[in-house]
Amino acid sequence: MSIHHPIRAMDEGDDAIRTALQDAHLPSLMVALAHATGDESLLRDDLRPNAAFTAGPQGGFSEEQIETARALCLDVLRRYRDAGCPAPAVPEEAQLRRWLSFLAGDVDLDAYLPLLLAELALDGADVRAPDWSKQELAPESDFRVAIIGAGMSGLAAALRLEQADIPFVILEKNDDLGGTWYENTYPGCRVDVPNHFYSYSFAQKDDWPQLFSSQDVLLDYFRDCADEFGLREHIRFNTEVSEAVWDEGRATWTLALRHADGSQESLDAQAIISAVGQLNRPLMPEIEGIEDYRGASFHSACWEADVDLAQKRVGVIGTGASAAQFIPVIAEEAAELHVFQRTAPWLLPTPDYHDEVPRGLQWLFARLPFYAQWYRFWLFWTTSDGLLAMVRVEDDWPHPERSVSPANDMLREMLTEYIRDQCEDDEVLFEKMRPDYPPCSKRFVRDNGLWTGTFKRENVELHTQGIERITEKGILDREGREIALDAIVYGTGFTASDFLTPMKVVGRGGRNLHTHWDGDARAYLGITVPHFPNFFVLYGPNTNIVVNGSIIFFSECEVNYVLGCLELLFRGGHRALDCRESVHDAYNRSIDEANMKMAWGAASVNTWYKNATGRVSQNWPSTLLEYWQRTREPDPNDYELL
Ligand code: NAP
Repeated sequence: MSIHHPIRAMDEGDDAIRTALQDAHLPSLMVALAHATGDESLLRDDLRPNAAFTAGPQGGFSEEQIETARALCLDVLRRYRDAGCPAPAVPEEAQLRRWLSFLAGDVDLDAYLPLLLAELALDGADVRAPDWSKQELAPESDFRVAIIGAGMSGLAAALRLEQADIPFVILEKNDDLGGTWYENTYPGCRVDVPNHFYSYSFAQKDDWPQLFSSQDVLLDYFRDCADEFGLREHIRFNTEVSEAVWDEGRATWTLALRHADGSQESLDAQAIISAVGQLNRPLMPEIEGIEDYRGASFHSACWEADVDLAQKRVGVIGTGASAAQFIPVIAEEAAELHVFQRTAPWLLPTPDYHDEVPRGLQWLFARLPFYAQWYRFWLFWTTSDGLLAMVRVEDDWPHPERSVSPANDMLREMLTEYIRDQCEDDEVLFEKMRPDYPPCSKRFVRDNGLWTGTFKRENVELHTQGIERITEKGILDREGREIALDAIVYGTGFTASDFLTPMKVVGRGGRNLHTHWDGDARAYLGITVPHFPNFFVLYGPNTNIVVNGSIIFFSECEVNYVLGCLELLFRGGHRALDCRESVHDAYNRSIDEANMKMAWGAASVNTWYKNATGRVSQNWPSTLLEYWQRTREPDPNDYELL
């Protein structure tokens, strides 16, 4: 599998084009055709797509509009082929504005244009690549960076350091790269963000096999990126960082490394980029008797493939995003499957969730320049900032237990209707599956009908009475029924708010990061923490999202900001920077206030987005645009320069 593919000349007949068009995503195709040919005649007012999330995959086009759009596209594609598929001209800004507003609708283009151009990465141009190098700015400095973690964020950071010619090493506890996509091998594991969007802007792929790729495909993608960008040789595998201590005199971090064979060593670096992720330390539930159980048991993130679940009595605790993926798979083979649900998830109807990318769409991506990029842009737009209106809390909304605003209530109605349709006339199942909290205050579960279908199977039972305790033989529910089980699988999530554990990090004046945080991790922009100079966190506190966007977007923004910080050091001849406490505190106050105005902050439902203090420590409460703007470059006034 390779990341970039040259566009193939289109030399097939009209029938091949006509067939491919049946699978095309029309709004993005129309713009791609305007881009390829310069002919904007098909961007007609009567064919303007509706970019609202609820409008559907073809931008709300009616059957008639779909037919008209297909006929117009056929005509333009034919002419483009007959003209010999000329390379598109580089678009002018005015053209881009027209095309972007055709797709995105009513949008503040002045604000969004630079972000949209960065995401589009037209012509493969990587506008986020640093335009400076250490060699140029600080040739004498022996500055070196240690990146902790070779997952999605760590690799993105490594690429930028490589491009800026800054020496670095990546320290990875596992024996391979890929982070969460390496560790989670449970059956059915796949991404729940559309794949053409869940990818680096600088390594877009036009031949994803699936719309929402499975774990193996994503792992291959990250491996390919590491190879293509020459990052693998910088990774030290089987190497866990147990401690990092700042030496003020030398302005250097000393890291204690522990290797898989038990040996230890220390390593010096002038800056650390922590890219350890949020969702990688399994959370085992505190249920009485858990140690007494005699059968096989494991957590979803430590899947034991050699435990054969076929024809066994299996219990699953949890119905979050992970469990929702493996439950339908093991239901196929288990003799009995008992699912213990504490909180019902909201289901996001996604009929094509398990589908391959349709052949016609692949065919067009391979032949029409920039079509895959415009399609990615459509996904970016329709699944990101546009969605926030549905999750903002309306002041004095009188039904806080069911929704947070009229728009959120409308969403609730739609999603409830979906569950009702799925359950058909099974009222008991409907009552068990109907969530009792506002939509989007927890992560939704994508569904193509498989979830409800699983609970209609004869061999599957959904338990909602609650767990009293785990016994030697199985699970005792709160109504006194003991269910005998051969295996228990814990789909109980991760210790997400214990950021950066179990690493020990000691900053200025001997300050221990975890004592300093005291169970309530905070950072400025999720990246820097006062008293911990040259220590940068990726996917840190308040950089997660619930409904809008992809974590890769955030990682790219964070990496961009970190590189800006390093540039600041090199240009100014400084050795280190330390975030000002006042800046950090004011920022965190505003984040906390804003999160309380979002569904996940206002609702009282149990989520991994809140830490033990009840604060939303995971989520970014605003638009992708705002995070992108705030991380474009650091403000030197925010830092003490050492
Ligand atoms: P999770 O969302 O935290 O779900 C954990 C599940 O275990 C919940 O149903 C929770 O119930 C239940 N649980 C926890 N402790 C329990 C207890 N003591 N008794 C009974 N039930 C208990 O974890 P996850 O499913 O691993 O997902 C975590 C995050 O990873 C997701 O939100 C998502 O961001 C990411 N993820 C993404 C994908 C994807 O892209 N496809 C796949 C998997 C995970 P409550 O709801 O009542 O707490």
